[in-house]
Amino acid sequence: MVEAFAVASGKGGTGKTTSTLALGMALAEKHDVTVVDADTGMANLLFHAGLDDAAVTLHDLLVEGADAAVSDAVYDRFGMKVVPCGTSLAAFRAADPERLRDVVAELAADTDVLLLDSPAALGSKSAVLPIVLADRTVIVLQPTIPALSDGLKVQEYARSYGTETAGTLFNRVRDDEGIDRVAEQADRYFGGEKLGVIPESDAARAARGAGEPLLAHAPDAPASEAFREAGRRLDVRDGASGDVADRFRSAVVPDEV
Ligand code: ADP
Ligand code: MG
Repeated sequence: MVEAFAVASGKGGTGKTTSTLALGMALAEKHDVTVVDADTGMANLLFHAGLDDAAVTLHDLLVEGADAAVSDAVYDRFGMKVVPCGTSLAAFRAADPERLRDVVAELAADTDVLLLDSPAALGSKSAVLPIVLADRTVIVLQPTIPALSDGLKVQEYARSYGTETAGTLFNRVRDDEGIDRVAEQADRYFGGEKLGVIPESDAARAARGAGEPLLAHAPDAPASEAFREAGRRLDVRDGASGDVADRFRSAVVPDEV
């Protein structure tokens, strides 16, 4: 069984990559987890996971005619399988986003949970594909009304491709931000569960600096505990019946976005 989640948000810098790795490590306590940096234009998961010197990355799998095998871009780190993406603009330009379907199909055959760290924008094929491919989305929000409004656009787009919302994660929450009022609004408009409220955390910043996921760098930090709780709340399902690989290979890619 496999369920693929897109970790998405309407904005950059909300903590998608931090959340992808933290949720991944939390879920890895019970499941076989693979995380993929599907933010191929603004990749940064490699820096969060100590993989900045990875020889083969997702980019190498997306370039037409490249002979890298999917397994060459899979690294065992922190109890998960991690597929980083490179940061070269030339490689991003050379990459064919549609090949992500085949990569995800192959990865899905061999894992329980796939987390796709997704781009913030919705303006191109490479930006929307992870959301289209995923079974459900986890929407990462900063606790402000404008952030909710951007997150709702992501939800609406995802739903138009049959990708429901698994839940929301509020990240970088400060005590003085009136999270209760914002969360109450969010409850009305977002599908799924409120998975967690992650505090603004020095440990999260330090983890990024150390090139380690938060849960490895500071497992006892309140933010880590909040991510583990979010992992417990997320009910992992089998995304759909039928052949796993076919499910992703046959996903309809929008011609225009
Ligand atoms: P995104 O992938 O959405 O662009 P990142 O996960 O890379 O966002 O996070 C952006 C920056 O914010 C990083 O420097 C990260 O360390 C920091 N950050 C993420 N979550 C938190 C948090 N809860 N507290 C403090 N800093 C955070
Ligand atoms: Mg990111």
